[in-house]
Amino acid sequence: MAVDAADSRRSRWQPIPHSLPSKVSFPSGSIDQGRQRGGIESAIPRPLQADTSTDFLIIGAGFSGLVIAERLASAGWKCAVVDRRAHFGGNAHDRIDPAGVLIHPYGPHYFRTNSPRIVDYLSRFTAWHEVSYKINSHTRGRYWSFPINLNTFEEYLGRASTSEEFSTWLEQTRVPIDNPQNSEEVIISQVGRELYELFFEGYTLKQWKRHPRELDASVCGRIPVRTNRDDRYLSETFQALPANGYTAMFENLLAATPGIDLRLGMDFKEAKARWNCKHLVFTGAIDEYYERRFGPLPYRSLRFEHESFDAEQLRRRDAISGKSGFWQPAMQVNYPDAETPFTRIVEIKHATGQNIAASTILREFPKDWTPADEPFYPVPAPAARAAYQRYAALAVNEPNTSFIGRLATYRYYNMDQVTAMALTEADKLLARYGSP
Ligand SMILES: Cc1cc2nc3c(=O)[nH]c(=O)nc-3n(C[C@H](O)[C@H](O)[C@H](O)COP(=O)(O)OP(=O)(O)OC[C@H]3O[C@@H](n4cnc5c(N)ncnc54)[C@H](O)[C@@H]3O)c2cc1C
Repeated sequence: MAVDAADSRRSRWQPIPHSLPSKVSFPSGSIDQGRQRGGIESAIPRPLQADTSTDFLIIGAGFSGLVIAERLASAGWKCAVVDRRAHFGGNAHDRIDPAGVLIHPYGPHYFRTNSPRIVDYLSRFTAWHEVSYKINSHTRGRYWSFPINLNTFEEYLGRASTSEEFSTWLEQTRVPIDNPQNSEEVIISQVGRELYELFFEGYTLKQWKRHPRELDASVCGRIPVRTNRDDRYLSETFQALPANGYTAMFENLLAATPGIDLRLGMDFKEAKARWNCKHLVFTGAIDEYYERRFGPLPYRSLRFEHESFDAEQLRRRDAISGKSGFWQPAMQVNYPDAETPFTRIVEIKHATGQNIAASTILREFPKDWTPADEPFYPVPAPAARAAYQRYAALAVNEPNTSFIGRLATYRYYNMDQVTAMALTEADKLLARYGSP
């Protein structure tokens, strides 16, 4: 797999090459909003033309929209990409905050995959910074090693142990369930009720406002349980962040792809009125596309609180973080207790490896979704999926519209999975339309 660590280290925190992206525009009045890292400061604002035709109109400039645009434009098709936000990158967008720290403003985005095809494709636009993602849990007044591993078991016992003892304990403690049907069953069948209640139940209730019993087994089941000392958060073979961040990676994608006309600060409705197109690619929420005619689909949203600290403030945290220049001991600390209103605190500098004295933390507060909020999470539960199926049934009757990405397919997909989906859909469209 193509990670050149030495090359990644060389290229980190270098100025981003400022070749002009394909063509980027904002509606008048939106430029101040756009003056942030995100390719936007390098764009030349220009007035919108009244009526335009394009081959592909793509709604959403996140992973799905930009990857499919790159594939189609590289084949010679004209692509207009529209996003209502003032930046590209979707929820994976990152930027430098006022303290100078590279942050993930929509929550931490840990890139990982088992697919060499996805790594090869994205490596055209970025070098990588390898990361061993480490997290902790904080409950009963202390930090715990997490996901559950031999260290966690020793913390629980208050003494040294072995993998053999832990395996035996798990065998005796776990609730035997052959085919776990939901998130509660999947965890108690692995670790028993006490560790489930300690680390999973409260966290899941806060995050989803649903009991783990009501959620698909995959929600909690994706978190590994290990009897050795492997305390990595994730298990995929490739775990790395774009060396200069996601925004820089997308800037490179846009710079390498003439033929993408990117319009930020523009909504789908306005875009539809402006462009005639051969084919529409929609990566927004599918219920919004259909004007919620069957009612809104359920989503969970988030509120984020950022707090930055200078070197002196961080020095006073040394005893807690155990690492000079940091606020907490790990990139992410989960707070499963019901009385803590947030679910996790993320200090992304642990993962980015940015060499800077300051640091910024992000507290994540789950909240009910309303149409005024970002629909961050489709709800992975049977009733929500059934509601989605009514919209999906409409979508199959639209041969000239592709619905891809997390929101348009209402699936709890990661970045590598939506990249794969966009590449596959691009292949299908190129097979259907050929080249211009
Ligand atoms: C808090 C959080 C943490 C995550 N952590 C990880 C992680 O660690 N690892 C991982 O692999 N994945 C993670 N993900 C998932 C990751 O964000 C998605 O897989 C990925 O961003 C999906 O890309 P997308 O293009 O499908 O959607 P998005 O990134 O949501 O992009 C869609 C874009 O469409 C725009 N849009 C929507 N509707 C309209 C409209 N009507 N008009 C104009 N524009 C519109 C939006 O503004 C948005 O920019 C996380 C997601 C969240 C919310």
